[in-house]
Amino acid sequence: MRFMKTIEKKGDVLHAVEQILNGYLEMNKHRKTPERYAILKAVYSMEKHFTLEELGAKLSEDYKFPVSRATLYNTLNLFMELRLVIRHRFQGSTKYEACYEGESHCHQICTVCGKVTEIKSPEITKAIDLMHLKRFRKDGYTLYIYGICSVCQAAITRQKRTKTNKNT
Ligand SMILES: [Zn+2]
Ligand SMILES: [Zn+2]
Repeated sequence: MRFMKTIEKKGDVLHAVEQILNGYLEMNKHRKTPERYAILKAVYSMEKHFTLEELGAKLSEDYKFPVSRATLYNTLNLFMELRLVIRHRFQGSTKYEACYEGESHCHQICTVCGKVTEIKSPEITKAIDLMHLKRFRKDGYTLYIYGICSVCQAAITRQKRTKTNKNT
């Protein structure tokens, strides 16, 4: 399964997630509104982490398909239920991210500037794969590592240096 995922192309992923949405809408006898499919397509074309506003802008500018904020919000909630999207609460902002089949996520977050970088960690993935959980079937994980990025570290060091220079 892991291997399959790496060879899947973007178009295949979109097709697969559309099938998931199709299945859900049919099973629950919901209407297959074009909005839902347009939003799904936009979500899967976004760069990594995005806000509700950025997604709205993409839909109205690139897709010429403006959608109200409420519709966007409700649709993203539905996608989260279907595990097609995950929501992050990064420092001071809420961001969304497409996630197909519980793909695992490891983020490092700078507590000074708030910069978020996605990292790959085969060690952590392996450790979690090997973890035994009681009465629970895991399908993915999200990990946040907090710290200070190199840019902020350099700025802090510079500040300290000018301070000590002034004092001497
Ligand atoms: Zn930083
Ligand atoms: Zn992410």
